[in-house]
Amino acid sequence: MKTDTNVTTVRTTKMTPREWQKNLIKEDEITKYLDNQGKDFIDEEAIEETIQRNNRASTDRIREIIKSAYNIKLMDSEDVAALLSVTDPAVKEEVFDAAREIKTKVYDNRVVTFAPLYCGSKCVNRCTYCGFRCDNEAIDRRVLTMNEIEAEARVLACTIGHKRLVLVYGEHPETDADYIAESMKRVYAIKEKVRNGVGEIRRVNINAAPLPIRDLVKLHEAGIGTYQVFQETYHRPTYRSVHPEGTLKGNYRWRLYALHRAMDAGIDDVAVGALFGLYDWKFEVMGLVAHARDLEKRFGLGPHTVSVPRLEPAAGTDFSWVKHRVSDEDFRYLIAVIRLAIPYAGLIVTNREKPDMIRSVIKMCTQRDADTRVGIGAYTEAFPETDAPQNAESSFGAESSDKADDGGQKEEIQQFLLGDTRSLDAIIRELASMGHIVSFCTAGYRCGRTGKKIMDALESGREGCFCKLNAVLTFQEWLEDFASPETKRIGDEIFNKEMKEIRARVPQDFTLELVEHLEKARARILAGERDLYF
Ligand code: SAM
Ligand code: SF4
Repeated sequence: MKTDTNVTTVRTTKMTPREWQKNLIKEDEITKYLDNQGKDFIDEEAIEETIQRNNRASTDRIREIIKSAYNIKLMDSEDVAALLSVTDPAVKEEVFDAAREIKTKVYDNRVVTFAPLYCGSKCVNRCTYCGFRCDNEAIDRRVLTMNEIEAEARVLACTIGHKRLVLVYGEHPETDADYIAESMKRVYAIKEKVRNGVGEIRRVNINAAPLPIRDLVKLHEAGIGTYQVFQETYHRPTYRSVHPEGTLKGNYRWRLYALHRAMDAGIDDVAVGALFGLYDWKFEVMGLVAHARDLEKRFGLGPHTVSVPRLEPAAGTDFSWVKHRVSDEDFRYLIAVIRLAIPYAGLIVTNREKPDMIRSVIKMCTQRDADTRVGIGAYTEAFPETDAPQNAESSFGAESSDKADDGGQKEEIQQFLLGDTRSLDAIIRELASMGHIVSFCTAGYRCGRTGKKIMDALESGREGCFCKLNAVLTFQEWLEDFASPETKRIGDEIFNKEMKEIRARVPQDFTLELVEHLEKARARILAGERDLYF
């Protein structure tokens, strides 16, 4: 493995966590987003009443709502509440069918894969559900140096074959905005020869605590992809009970407007999420939709993605207080409702869930993680000192089925426990056999097709055409550079099917000239060129 000669020392702040926290929250960066009466866009009473008012929606009304969802516009909250009220399994099935069709209409059969890279487990907060909370003695604390981050990212890019990462941080002076910006730059700098091509990360997303605008500008300048901040719960009393007063995270409003500040800092790809299990799932779905609506209203642009994490066990963490666990059935249904309610947004399901659950919802989702490890330094620990792509000599076997072991999880270094620890190769093989094409495309972002431009294109279906061509090219690249023999075989089949479909869509969606370009680009990839896109 390449040794690091260009060492950047991690800047360690001299401030104590207490001093650092004192001036972080800027009141004027909250109040500027309140309405004329000084209120938030989350009105708990109004949400509860809307849920109640629409509690017995007729099947005819549900069918009307489903029909209008195909317009790919943010759904009215009365209609969302009506969808949430459905109990008849047959009508629910109609909602599921529509959710799968709308996903295909907007995003085709593409699924994007990524991996999280946990950079630090030090945190000043005490979220009652999280293994990283500062008073949890069951966790070994660690913040990665820049060289360690680079080593982790090199495993992900050059051994596993990821092109997209989400970097994750606790909230702590040692992982402040300067550290986050520096870590992004180090990850983007990786470019290394692998098998037939290059290992590199082309998009770095960030999951970090809310930041003030001046810090968000730093992340924008460092090339952030999407900025994710999950509200956890939109219900204030629950928020207060799981985020103790006096902690940074205890400030509900600072978090509620984190993405507003990001937009003002020039970051136009932002991601919402709720941690399902803290409060009533119907309320949280209404909260997510209200959040999307306020972003649309103020910035003309909703969230780029929606995440739906569900509470998972964590070392040293008592969950006996949890009263709103979401059943598998409700979890599947809430994903379907979000798909219809915020139809333009990507929908992310993570490896917190077990393989069976992910399989049952993936046709409504657009992204999932793969080969995930959530321990600090866990990728280098799992793949020490290796240059070879993980699957180069793999004979395909043990991992073709859901892995029975825990994927080397170590409770004491991770935030929570994972449900799916299979390799990217195994997951791509499974997705391909289910008819999905895995896209490693990051072209939209790099060609300036982000924010409002991409949202308009998604709503009109235009982006789908670009994405399809780029998905095919980037998938071919991955098959050449990282696939095991069996995954390559299944992947080639789906690739040929995609090419046939693209040709069949001439001249309605694609011109003949475009298809010829695509075929030439494919030949160039087979000859060793990389990173070709439309
Ligand atoms: N520390 C930052 C924050 O809280 O915003 C960002 C990183 S935090 C490590 C990422 C997310 O993990 C949180 O927003 C929360 O939704 C989720 N999470 C925390 N504890 C969890 C648990 N026990 N099970 C599932 N997800 C959890
Ligand atoms: Fe810290 Fe985030 Fe965990 Fe809360 S969820 S304890 S803020 S890492």
